[in-house]
Amino acid sequence: MSVKEQQTQDQVSLDQRALPLVEIFSAIQGEGANVGCRQIFIRLAGCDLRCTYCDSAHTWFVPSHALIEERAGDRHFQTVPNPVTTSQVLHAVAQLNRPPIHDSISLTGGEPLLHATTLAQFLPLLKAHSSLPLYLETGGHHPEALELVLSYLDSVGMDIKLPSVSGECHWSAHEAFLRLCDRAPVEVFCKVILSQATDPADLDRLSTLVAGVNPHIPVFLQPVTPIGTGRYTPPPTPAQVLAWQAQLKARLSTVRVVPQTHKFLGQR
Ligand code: SF4
Repeated sequence: MSVKEQQTQDQVSLDQRALPLVEIFSAIQGEGANVGCRQIFIRLAGCDLRCTYCDSAHTWFVPSHALIEERAGDRHFQTVPNPVTTSQVLHAVAQLNRPPIHDSISLTGGEPLLHATTLAQFLPLLKAHSSLPLYLETGGHHPEALELVLSYLDSVGMDIKLPSVSGECHWSAHEAFLRLCDRAPVEVFCKVILSQATDPADLDRLSTLVAGVNPHIPVFLQPVTPIGTGRYTPPPTPAQVLAWQAQLKARLSTVRVVPQTHKFLGQR
């Protein structure tokens, strides 16, 4: 086969793989360990959870078209029919990273691991086409899907959903997920949303879970943001936040309180 024929075949194969997307854009990460970093966000469509505080209900289902930012931070978007082909995603990432101002690529959602089979084919290509580290933002409840993509990732930010706050309960899946991350050569941190309704018994269970895997895994407590488009959820009081951080620090080495900074900055 000639080089040209091989290139044509590679292109056809790239175009046959496709991802259901909400958007691709450049922004400042506002949550967890990467707060303040500039990232290219690849937001996949679809979520199987229904957290009571969710402000991203538009990600639950696949839209007919995805939005792709034309230049990093200019907030002008092309609309592209879903699903978006692999070659279109690679092209968008390359365009946005000119000039190369980004620290990493965030694979986010919705729940990106609902598309783990496609991601397992796409991420090696993304790694080959971009030198940016790959960061996965996930609900942390699909360990079997994580296994398909873990070797391509550089870092993972996983939620641990407190039943008293989110209405979701996934303790055993979270534990299996965190154990996989801890054994792999990736950086991992946990993100926990707090509201006024947080049950301290949930925090005890959380600290037992994380300490049982590795007490040095950082935990970021994120008071629910009382602004935005989600259903209003009363945020914790300052006294509650102080008490709950102290409760977790009894067993865990790194427990930080970081609100959603992108909302305060008026970022996307
Ligand atoms: S996991 Fe995220 S997108 Fe899904 S319902 Fe919860 S907050 Fe919303």
